[in-house]
Amino acid sequence: MENNIALPEAFSKNMKVLLGDEYPEFESSLYKVSPVSIRLNEGVKLPSTAGFPAFDFESSIPWCKSGVYLAQRPSFTLDPLFHSGSYYVQEAASMFVEQCVNTVKQYANIDYILDLCAAPGGKSTHLISLFPDSLLVCNEVIHSRTSALKENTGKWGHANTMITSCDPAMFRRLNSFFDFILVDAPCSGEGMFRKEPEALKGWSPENVKHCETRQLRIVRDVWDALKPGGFMLYGTCTYNREENENLIRFIVETLGAESIPVDMSAFEGIAPSVDKNIHACRFFPHKTKSEGLFLSLIRKNGESKQNSTKKTKRLAKISELNSWIRQGETSFAYIRRNDRIYMLPEKFAADVEFIAKTVHTLSSGTEICTMKGKELIPSLDFAHSTEINVNNFTVWDVDDATALKFLKKETLFAPTTNADKGFILITYHGVPLGWVKNIGSRCNNMLPTQRKL
Ligand code: SAM
Repeated sequence: MENNIALPEAFSKNMKVLLGDEYPEFESSLYKVSPVSIRLNEGVKLPSTAGFPAFDFESSIPWCKSGVYLAQRPSFTLDPLFHSGSYYVQEAASMFVEQCVNTVKQYANIDYILDLCAAPGGKSTHLISLFPDSLLVCNEVIHSRTSALKENTGKWGHANTMITSCDPAMFRRLNSFFDFILVDAPCSGEGMFRKEPEALKGWSPENVKHCETRQLRIVRDVWDALKPGGFMLYGTCTYNREENENLIRFIVETLGAESIPVDMSAFEGIAPSVDKNIHACRFFPHKTKSEGLFLSLIRKNGESKQNSTKKTKRLAKISELNSWIRQGETSFAYIRRNDRIYMLPEKFAADVEFIAKTVHTLSSGTEICTMKGKELIPSLDFAHSTEINVNNFTVWDVDDATALKFLKKETLFAPTTNADKGFILITYHGVPLGWVKNIGSRCNNMLPTQRKL
């Protein structure tokens, strides 16, 4: 099958300069259909790939342990496991973040991470998997995009995540706080022309310039929030030098940083930087089975030091919740915001309070429940939590048809007339999808309206 796209002349001209003899191969790759890839929430949701009966696995993604290519694109929206956070549909090159993180881990312990341009949450969910013991702040400045981010990180199921929504400049208030910042910058999108031909419409040399100016402002504005000695991973899905090497070189030289190499020798086809003074990993669709991407890792000059956060008051443990949460190695604190209760790793509770007081925060940790008088009503994110003690709840493992009814927010009827009244955890292939409340004659569907299929 072939794509039908018309490339802007100025874009083709730039790419001919960048790629030389390789240009015709690059151009013909744009007329081919994009590969389909997913990243599994491995070891967290599914005991094995047997839970994916509908999928036609093709091969693994060499640079990402939990990444796989699919031979065909299934209907993800009609797959209940998609809604359970068992996997994330993600472009393969983006998963190279894993190799950059492996490099960072060789240099330093990373406790505090900021994903500055996070929606819809592809790289955030990956970072959550790669740093299960760190605190990840996922920020998205455009408010309308935060619901997708909240949904995707919530489904991923870890309590070490916060969602904020502010302009990058607001993070100056968290001076030298983060060990690692990911700037997955808004860009001119040249690397997405094949997958999202819509990106072509907005492309112009003027827009490239506009993006470059905005990217520089974003990095400058957040720079103070990065600790001396901390790491920044900068990425775009575009090819031109202006938004990539030129920008990184300018940052290294003016803000004071070192360009750090990421070992790509084990992977075929990834191209190096086009500036010999800067390290970068470049993906082109004619060289790797992916769309286009640019990633470059830098380290801020200076000596790193430990964070010192202020002690804050914490909500006393609510005894009823103890049985809701499985007894694992991590100790959790509960935080109450209005009528909602959230759980987060106790070791980060003071930091989370500090961040929430400093920047506009939408959620902290996993929302466990809403308090309605004395009743605790379990939240959807808690159904997806890796910490839920499933044995504490009545569980109803549903078939395909019932799972879809549930996801369409239809009313369900309990399988037996003597089923326990109250909250029932709906699971599919053993993986939680959400809650219903059995009132006897029927089960009220507790899926939030905005989540319905
Ligand atoms: N990291 C995301 C992922 O992997 O799913 C994709 C991020 S996308 C490339 C860039 C994001 O930057 C968008 O969500 C966009 O809303 C956000 N953005 C746009 N303008 C911005 C600005 N001035 N400052 C910070 N972020 C901005």
